[in-house]
Amino acid sequence: MKYTTQFLLSAMAPEQFPSPSVPEIAFLGRSNVGKSSLLNALAGEKAAKVSSTPGRTRAINFFALNDESQRRKIVFADLPGYGYAKISKSISAEWPKFIEPYLAERETLGLCVCLVDSNVPPQKRDAQLLDWLRSVDRYFVVVATKVDRLSGNERTRNLAALRKGLGIDEIVPVSAKTSAGIKELWARIEGVEVE
Ligand code: GDP
Repeated sequence: MKYTTQFLLSAMAPEQFPSPSVPEIAFLGRSNVGKSSLLNALAGEKAAKVSSTPGRTRAINFFALNDESQRRKIVFADLPGYGYAKISKSISAEWPKFIEPYLAERETLGLCVCLVDSNVPPQKRDAQLLDWLRSVDRYFVVVATKVDRLSGNERTRNLAALRKGLGIDEIVPVSAKTSAGIKELWARIEGVEVE
């Protein structure tokens, strides 16, 4: 299906979240993992631009994806990047306070898309996030970014290391540069249902 992307708002507190309606997809990852580039590939330049605007990088940026008749079908929630600070005990120590409740409680949140860099070994910080998402019963899919930088062998090896290190069965390799894996990711997103 063809969507148009509409920026909704940047939320800095739960009162500002858009009223829950259609299935929501959250995007999470360490700073520099390629989140803006992936959003660009999925939802167009507008999404990436808003999400990298200073001041909005500490907010949750919400986007609506509308169908041809301007009906809202999906909402994307772009969460602040994490991970430059040293590993902390609390998952939210370096995150604004409202992020954790968003992930734990948002009723329309149907899927968390967790980005990891395919060129980087498994990171403790990412494993912690996945553990925490499991603990709050969230569906997630792990996406390995920037696979265009890897040869076939490296790619196989790195993806296996990531699956093992993060304790997951499946990882979706993508490249914003070549669009590899974007269709597969879209299929996952469009398959999301909210009870
Ligand atoms: P963010 O901080 O997570 O939003 O990351 P960006 O999307 O800004 O990307 C960080 C860096 O990685 C930039 O230099 C991008 O050009 C690069 N990058 C992002 N996606 C890809 C990709 O698919 N392939 C390659 N080769 N580089 C990428």
